[in-house]
Amino acid sequence: MNNKKIDYVIVISALFLIAGISTDNKVINIISFSILLISLLLKKFDFDIPIVKKKVKKTGKTNKTTSRKVNIDKIKYFRDDINNWLNEDKLEFADEYNYYENNVCANCGCVLDTKITSSKTCKFCNKKIVLRTNKITSKKLFLSEERAREYDHHDKKRSEILFFENIIAPRISIYEKYMNEFYRLKDKGYDPRNVVWPFIGYVGGEMDRMAYKEFMKIVNLPEKRMAEESFEIIRKFFLANTQYYIMAEIADYKEQKDIAMNLYADCAYRAVQITILDDLSNPFQELKVIDYMNNINIGKIFKFLKNNEYSIEDFKNNFIERRHPFILPQFSNEKSWEYVEEAINLYKRLDNNNR
Ligand SMILES: [Zn+2]
Repeated sequence: MNNKKIDYVIVISALFLIAGISTDNKVINIISFSILLISLLLKKFDFDIPIVKKKVKKTGKTNKTTSRKVNIDKIKYFRDDINNWLNEDKLEFADEYNYYENNVCANCGCVLDTKITSSKTCKFCNKKIVLRTNKITSKKLFLSEERAREYDHHDKKRSEILFFENIIAPRISIYEKYMNEFYRLKDKGYDPRNVVWPFIGYVGGEMDRMAYKEFMKIVNLPEKRMAEESFEIIRKFFLANTQYYIMAEIADYKEQKDIAMNLYADCAYRAVQITILDDLSNPFQELKVIDYMNNINIGKIFKFLKNNEYSIEDFKNNFIERRHPFILPQFSNEKSWEYVEEAINLYKRLDNNNR
């Protein structure tokens, strides 16, 4: 809650308190006193509590620019890119921001009689006035249809920067030791849209490499020792595979569906092999189909196949034809697929039960 809103609450609760005292109403006194006390505390400590936004209707022309708090705090790794985007936005669409400020049509420049709150047809020129809002500053603009397409194209860049920010930011605790590579790539002047992919690929590769190295050390140990040592290795393999799933998601997001398909098949293949490895090195624990299902991320893969109009048969062909031995070459691609099939069947059963 911003300070201004708290001020209103303080004034209103104080008025109620006065009213309560003058009419000797204990209930109103207690309630208004508590609200007053809480809001004074909030103001003092500058707490930030979310409240439902109230829509304020604007009337007439206004040249006052409302200084909204720019929602840039959460952007950390690509802050420069967002700042560049904001500058571009300001320069490229200065006219359109002015049209909104002065309430004139973006096509013919006629002054409109009322402030419009959504895209509308201009009654003077009969062309459409498109209303857009800058998602970061919340400032509005009026655009012609053609310029609206340009704005949407420009806005896509903003949402892409955020998409990649959201991939990088929450995983930083795992990536910490690899962050130098991230900054090295970024220093090359790479756009966030191009830096995340090689970085995630690098992290996955490094984790794989470490896991392989450790796996080779335990591969000949007696069963019990192997089981003890394998936990950390399996975890690393899974973390590496998580990176490849992210790459598949990026490829999907960028509409590179062939690459995404190939990556998803690879991830599924690796997930099966890692789960078998987990099973082999831990004879004391029983692995179930549900573990395969979760490790393979069947839900995610199904969503991808469905959105891109691929069949399970397409996926199967890619899986069997294009995989190379991962860590357990003795389990053929066909054999590995059997695990996927079982997992798919379980997924479908569970999915049907939920309907
Ligand atoms: Zn017009």
